[in-house]
Parts: sequence; structure tokens; C-alpha cells
Amino acid sequence: MPKIHLEHITKRFGRSVAVDNLDLVIGDREFVTLLGPSGCGKTTTLRMIAGLETPTEGDIYIDDRCVFSSERGIDISPDKRDVGFLFQNYALWPHMTVYKNIAFGLENMKWEKKRIESRVRELLEMLRIEELRDRYPSELSGGQQQRVAIARTLATGPKILFMDEPLSNLDAKLRMEMRTELKRLHAETDSTFVYVTHDQLEAMTLSSKICLLKEGLLQQFAPPLEVYHQPTNLFVADFVGSPNINILEVTGENVNLDEIKLNHKLLKLLFTPVSSSITVQEGQQLLLGIRPEDIVLSPEGTVAGSIYSTLPSGMETIVKIDLGGQILTSVVFGSVDFAMGEKVRLSFQSDKNVLFDKKSERTIA
Ligand code: ATP
Repeated sequence: MPKIHLEHITKRFGRSVAVDNLDLVIGDREFVTLLGPSGCGKTTTLRMIAGLETPTEGDIYIDDRCVFSSERGIDISPDKRDVGFLFQNYALWPHMTVYKNIAFGLENMKWEKKRIESRVRELLEMLRIEELRDRYPSELSGGQQQRVAIARTLATGPKILFMDEPLSNLDAKLRMEMRTELKRLHAETDSTFVYVTHDQLEAMTLSSKICLLKEGLLQQFAPPLEVYHQPTNLFVADFVGSPNINILEVTGENVNLDEIKLNHKLLKLLFTPVSSSITVQEGQQLLLGIRPEDIVLSPEGTVAGSIYSTLPSGMETIVKIDLGGQILTSVVFGSVDFAMGEKVRLSFQSDKNVLFDKKSERTIA
């Protein structure tokens, strides 16, 4: 069942287009992340759904109810959209205890004292902060404060929870911890989450679906692994994944990919077409995308190269390999140590690689 439905949503600021004709259907209880580089329109999109920003054109529906329509002159205020917010600066009220901070919204809604108490207890438990209930914000760590802020947002049980870079003020370790908490929390509540980040790893690990934007235009809206393995274009392929996808330039010499002959002598080894119906033109400039984990270093490998550099981090080692002037990145689990210039052999998971048209940058196969 759709929870949120955007139809032809456009937002212009003066002459510049922040969001360009966006169509989006977000299902009930989904965890959707708006992802993309700075200035691509993530925050503007979130703010328009929440009712904090007025679209220039288009319609927005929440639970099949029209909450915004440029043509019909409908614009329901944020407080009547049954939504909650969690932003980067989640300032807690410093003069209130954790308990009071969480209870505040419910007191405003004139809930009975007993009901408030039981709701706050439930939230303290859910976020595992029971022991902090009588502390003041100044007595909490960054991560603890963040949990209290989440509890406060969830207290009134909003149907939709909007989060704009809520973890960006936390250090790397805490951020990781809070990601786990957010994912757990999403499973435990009935709310639909709409999350903004420019961090592809955060989007990959948290979301049920990623909405990837570039310059206000939707690039792909799909589950994280689909975005990763079946990107719609070169931009998407390059934006997700760390280290970045390897890109090789190749030229088509035959029209049928079944018997494709390409000038790059490696291509046969690197690419197995999934469908034989795909064709490339003679002389068509192509790009081949290979994920680092699909390059395997083994003595039985079919291609010879030499070590360009080795970057060990304990859990994994990033190995850069020189293939006749072309540097490829591979990731090896655990620690490996190679000498610079050492000869190695590689094999490829050729059925996982992606072929793009160089000119349009669109995915061919
Ligand atoms: P970031 O990751 O940097 O926060 P974003 O993807 O969230 O970026 P938005 O904040 O949605 O991007 O901005 C999209 C575009 O709209 C940008 O070019 C921005 O400069 C412009 N923009 C946003 N708000 C306004 C405004 N109030 N007035 C004029 N231009 C704006």
C-alpha cells in the first residue's frame, strides 16, 4: 500500500530547478533514503513531503489523501500530516531531564499522566536508555543524546518519520552504532522512514529502497542491492560502492553481443552478456564497470598484472593492480601483503560486470 505518493513534483528557486518532475511511490513502513551529492535536491524533496517547503508544481498524497496540489490549491500544514522530524541539530531542551524531554510532546497533547509514563517507559526500553531517565542532556554522550532525540520524535507515534542527516554530527564509531539502532527501531515501529544522507554506505546499509538523485533528477529508485548490481547509468554505478567501481574503456566491433568481439583483448574474459538480445554498434564507445570484489587474485587467474599498491586495513586489503597501464582496484578479505611490482594473476566474475554506452552513460547490459 502506498504511504506517500509524489506526482510530477518540481521545485524551482528563481530560475534554478532544485527538484525536476519527480514521481515517487513510497510504500507503507518502508525505509526510503534520499541519496545523492550535495545540492541534488534531497532536503528539498524531504521538506516538500513534510509540508515545510511548497512545491512549484505537482501533487503529493499521504495515505491516499491529497496533502498538496499546485493545480487544486491544496496545501495541508505539517502538523496535520501526522509526521515527525529528526534533524542534524537535534537540540534537546537543556533544562529538562531525559524523561521530560520525551514526555513533553505527549503533555502538550494532554495525555493522561499514567499513559505518558507508560509510553515514555516503552520508548526508554526500546532505545535502551532506561538508566538515563533522570539525567539532563549535558550529562549525556553524543550518542545518548541522539537516542533521546529519537525517542522524543517517536513519542507521539508519527506515521512518517523524516530524518535529515541525523547522524552526521556523530563520530564514525557512534554513527555505526546508531545505524544499527535505527534499523532495529524501524523494524519495531509502524512508521515509514524517509531519510536523507549523502553517505552511500549509510543508504546501502539502512534502506529498504534508495532514491538516488542528481541535479534534481531521479536516477534510480530501487532496493540497495539492485542499485549496486544493476545501476541504471554510470553515475549510479560510481556513486555507490567503496572503493569505487572500476571503469574500462572498450569499443564495439560487432553488433551482436553473443559473439561480441571488442578491441580490448580482455573483454571476452571480463564480460558475459546476460541477454543475447543486446546489441552494440560497430565502433561504439563503451565503458565496462567491474566491482572491486569481482576481481579475484589467484595463481589460476586468466589475466596477468603487477601490483601497483597495497592498502591493508586489517579486515580487508585494497589492492591496486597495473594491467598494462590500466590500474584496477580489487578488494581482498583479510590481510595480504604484496611487494610493489610483484606479478599476480587475476580472474573475473564476468557475469556481474556492467556495460555502459560511453556517450549517454546509460547501462546497456
Ligand atoms: P546537501 O546535501 O548539501 O544538503 P541537498 O541534496 O539536500 O544538498 P537541497 O538542499 O535540496 O540539496 O538543495 C537543492 C538545490 O536547491 C541546491 O542547488 C540549493 O542551492 C537550492 N536551494 C535550496 N534551498 C534554497 C532556497 N531556499 N533558496 C534558493 N535555492 C535553494
